[in-house]
Amino acid sequence: MFINHNYIYEILEKTKCPSNDEIKSVLEKAKKRDGLSYEDIAVLLQAEDEKDLNEIYSLAGEIKKDIYGKRIVVFAPLYVSDYCVNNCVYCGYKRDNKFSRRKLTMEEVVQEVKILEQMGHKRLALELGEDPVNATIDYVLECLDTIYKTQNANGEIRRVNVNIAATTVENYKLLNEKGIGTYILFQETYHQPTYEKMHPKSIKGDYNYHLTSFDRAMEAGIDDVGAGVLFGLSDPRFEVLSLMMHNNHLEEKYGVGFHTISVPRLQEASGVNLESYPYLLNDRMFKKIVAILRIALPFTGLILSTRETPAMRKELLKYGVSQISAGSSTGVGGYKEREEGRDIKQFKTNDERSPIEILKELLEDGYIPSYCTACYRKGRTGDRFMQLAKSGNIKYVCEPNAIMTLQEFTLDYGDKELYEKAQQIINSEVENIQREDIKNYTKESLEKMQSGKRD
Ligand code: SAM
Repeated sequence: MFINHNYIYEILEKTKCPSNDEIKSVLEKAKKRDGLSYEDIAVLLQAEDEKDLNEIYSLAGEIKKDIYGKRIVVFAPLYVSDYCVNNCVYCGYKRDNKFSRRKLTMEEVVQEVKILEQMGHKRLALELGEDPVNATIDYVLECLDTIYKTQNANGEIRRVNVNIAATTVENYKLLNEKGIGTYILFQETYHQPTYEKMHPKSIKGDYNYHLTSFDRAMEAGIDDVGAGVLFGLSDPRFEVLSLMMHNNHLEEKYGVGFHTISVPRLQEASGVNLESYPYLLNDRMFKKIVAILRIALPFTGLILSTRETPAMRKELLKYGVSQISAGSSTGVGGYKEREEGRDIKQFKTNDERSPIEILKELLEDGYIPSYCTACYRKGRTGDRFMQLAKSGNIKYVCEPNAIMTLQEFTLDYGDKELYEKAQQIINSEVENIQREDIKNYTKESLEKMQSGKRD
């Protein structure tokens, strides 16, 4: 298998306690965008000196600015079913947790989607537990159909990323035919003995089947895959090197690595006792990991959820995070329930702000919140996306689209304060567009939007 445990331990041993000079030389290499070896990454992972850490953050910030400009993509999760046959030790949906489980009817899916559209969302991550009887692939496909066709007066969901359990090539083909965005699956932990301990007597307990799910997804024609580790289960240094090996494996075999990486940290959940996890990730190591991922994989989107506090999210946006969720509920039917004053969750969340509040802060910090889904709609996925990103030309596409979707959001969903904050940044950013033809096109589109035209 492509995660070689002994090799990872050897690298970590060989690179432990790196000197300031060793760290500096890796950062120099990263600055030149030469590509980093596993050993280079292990050196950064084991940097402890405050001065070295600040240099890592600062380089990550520069790379982020260079590649993503000021854009931050915004999305929300949609939980449709909490039926689950697995017994994942860390999860509130585990089989041993006895609560009344349910899945949304299509009418309820419509209701949830309409609430999400009213918040201004255009991009969702579809979430559900694994249950081959109660939540079949046909159910997932029906949910996708329903989401894509549910339109509000001024909104529609334009991209649905899907986070369902590892499955077969046939099922991935069905998902692909429905036009999903990214197929997301977290490895949870790459450390096989821990993986097996965390998934006792579960379908999900087959480490190799889970690990090779992206191979099957790619064989089925899905070319955007989103990885993740549930930080807190095992040694984070081991997990980061494994992510690199997994990414290299996909690049070598299919020509394209991860489209995104998510960095969830273990949270409290029903039946989960955080005290029994020796590898809980502290803030310092967490920041270091986000910055190193940004340096090591400059073109891979980094996703941060509302598991993190507003302060942590604000800080990590500086070091590399490029996508955040907003206004999230992690419970089945959670958006409707929240409107009715109740709240149900898969795990504890720590940023309860509405999308408008989050957008205001992003604008104050100089970012352009983006609801853009154009790459996906224009078929710029997989290696086509990566080539455009690596050539640097993506900014001519992303920047105007981000500006236009921000304009659309403020006109359709914002309040006066948001509108004014957004106009300041929109006006200055349009002037910064370097190509005259694109600048003029963007200006015209913004004017058309003011008079009611939508994409
Ligand atoms: N059923 C899908 C599967 O088997 O991969 C995953 C869907 S689950 C809704 C999404 C993710 O939530 C999981 O992959 C896991 O990483 C994360 N999760 C579960 N329990 C968590 C907890 N206590 N704290 C933080 N994240 C958690």
